[in-house]
Amino acid sequence: MELLKGKENIEKAKSLEVAEEAREESWKYPSFVGDLFTGKLRWELVFPFPAQGPEDKRIGDEFLKKLETFLKTRVDADAIDRNSLIPDSVMQGLRELGCFGLKIPKEYGGLGLSQINYNRAMAMVASHCGSTAVLLSAHQSIGVPQPLKLFGTKAQKEKYLPLFAKGAISAFALTEPEVGSDPAKMSTTAMPIENENFYLINGQKLWCTNGTIADVIVVMAKTPPKIVNGKEKTQITAFIVEKNMPGFEVAHRCSFMGLKGIQNGLLKFHDVKVPKENIIWGLGQGLKLALITLNTGRMTVPAACTAMAKKSLLIARDWSNKRVQWGAPIGHHEAITSKISLMTATTFAMDSVTWLASAMVDGGKVDVRLEAAMAKLFCTEAAWRIADDSVQIRGGRGYETADSLRGRGEEPIPVERFLRDARINLIIEGTSEIMHLFIAREAIDPHLKRILPILSSRTSLADKIKKIGEAFWHYAFWYPRQWMYLSRWRKHAKVSPAVKRHIRFVEKTSHKLARNLFHAMAIHQQGLEKRQQILARFVNIGTDLFAMAATCSHAAYLVSQNPSDRGPEELADLFCREATLRIQREFLAQRRNDDKMIYRIGRKMLEGKYQWLETGIVK
Ligand SMILES: Cc1cc2nc3c(=O)[nH]c(=O)nc-3n(C[C@H](O)[C@H](O)[C@H](O)COP(=O)(O)OP(=O)(O)OC[C@H]3O[C@@H](n4cnc5c(N)ncnc54)[C@H](O)[C@@H]3O)c2cc1C
Repeated sequence: MELLKGKENIEKAKSLEVAEEAREESWKYPSFVGDLFTGKLRWELVFPFPAQGPEDKRIGDEFLKKLETFLKTRVDADAIDRNSLIPDSVMQGLRELGCFGLKIPKEYGGLGLSQINYNRAMAMVASHCGSTAVLLSAHQSIGVPQPLKLFGTKAQKEKYLPLFAKGAISAFALTEPEVGSDPAKMSTTAMPIENENFYLINGQKLWCTNGTIADVIVVMAKTPPKIVNGKEKTQITAFIVEKNMPGFEVAHRCSFMGLKGIQNGLLKFHDVKVPKENIIWGLGQGLKLALITLNTGRMTVPAACTAMAKKSLLIARDWSNKRVQWGAPIGHHEAITSKISLMTATTFAMDSVTWLASAMVDGGKVDVRLEAAMAKLFCTEAAWRIADDSVQIRGGRGYETADSLRGRGEEPIPVERFLRDARINLIIEGTSEIMHLFIAREAIDPHLKRILPILSSRTSLADKIKKIGEAFWHYAFWYPRQWMYLSRWRKHAKVSPAVKRHIRFVEKTSHKLARNLFHAMAIHQQGLEKRQQILARFVNIGTDLFAMAATCSHAAYLVSQNPSDRGPEELADLFCREATLRIQREFLAQRRNDDKMIYRIGRKMLEGKYQWLETGIVK
């Protein structure tokens, strides 16, 4: 048992080391969320709401008009779901519209859309057909075009980007059967041959979206380790692999609960010979490349989720008005009215978070890694709940397939498909748990940076004394400021009394969050990194604060554009009231919780101590 524990600790340490190596340490630009956890509110990054510029909007509107017509007339989403296939006619139509080059710069033949217009397009597709949205997103949010745009050489861009713009399909291959959230254990290798002019890739990649039909794939593989200070350092490198390279095999097409039309597979690589020119960014940069690609790549997911929420809401509203039970439309029964109300306010918050974060990407003056992670976490969880609520509101029809509804003469409303399609968003491009860990790691980083060198046995006594002095002076000024601070929101946030109190709450609570995080750090020291329940609560509080700030800013902007309609403020008010209650509950749970008992019982269950509960079932 002790031996096993020791092995587990070594494996964990190795995984952490690889993750830390790949972590982006520097912050070139400010981050609203990053600073929120230290009690510093950069309101200027959120206010005024960064509305889309008129020229960019015109470009987007023009494209969206064509896209909407195409989706309505040529994409039968139920048939794609039924046949598990996106037909060639749809693929061709998408090519003709330029959908495979939405984000590819114009100089390479793409449409060169901004992040906002790209997300608007992906949202529109997602509101109609999840499979088609994922096809396009896997291709250019994370597939080869994105890392090439970020890190490719001129030659690589000139060779591949025009092909993608014309409709060649790409994919992103990181996951393996034994490697999901933790890439340290990656077993796919790329060994140098012929004076390191070529690499031989061997291994397999699982669940690679578009993998079965892709022309070009970015594949992460282990190259020989580097020796640093006598210690081996794992090297993960990104390679461009073409489907016609000998040794590449599509071993299996996977099928799922939802997204039936996606082409997702198990890919095998047997001595696939790849020239060194196909390395993106350089040897050993592959994991960092994958993580940075995902930082903006995962922005498509919240846009898609927001669109799915809007469509679910539309269906729920329509049905709640039409369906009469117990003498009244079901929407008039309080249980359903309140569901609709909260769905509406949450959808507005999702919209606000998504477009704020997308505009931050376009503005290029904010480091969006945490905003994108929060947008992904917040919108995927919310979309899943909203899809579930829309199924509930549709009652039995919510559970019935569109084909079955059509078959007996009813309108084929596909909420059942929406629910199935929505579930995966909590898993792909960083699971909710991994998003929590990712955000938490950055939230505690300012403290870790100061504390770790003091606790490390590798720091000399003289350095330790120096570091203790530095930490003392830093906290001597920083900590009192978390209790007594100058309010900054008035300078930036021009909001009406309806939402003013929420802005004040965000400011006050960010200081409370900073204090509580500091207290937790002082109590648990570096052990805090392992206290996932505590950290998750901090991240949930931070996420709600970010969503509140985005929602109030969005509402203020919309009301400024149309002062006669105070609806956005009303929705912001409701969302913020609910978020405030959640935040208060999380703070309370930080003081009074059953964490230890929950953990103990979980471990006992895992050890089989509650097997008596697993009786009376078919095993
Ligand atoms: C439809 C679909 C499409 C996909 N597309 C792609 C693609 O295009 N390219 C690609 O490379 N991959 C793709 N994936 C893989 C996807 O990214 C992974 O499923 C995801 O990263 C999670 O990995 P896993 O499934 O192995 O789960 P695991 O990593 O085994 O995790 C299982 C559970 O444990 C939790 N967990 C893991 N580690 C921790 C931890 N340290 N602390 C707390 N909880 C933890 C996870 O959150 C999860 O709930 C796809 C998967 C699916 C199903």
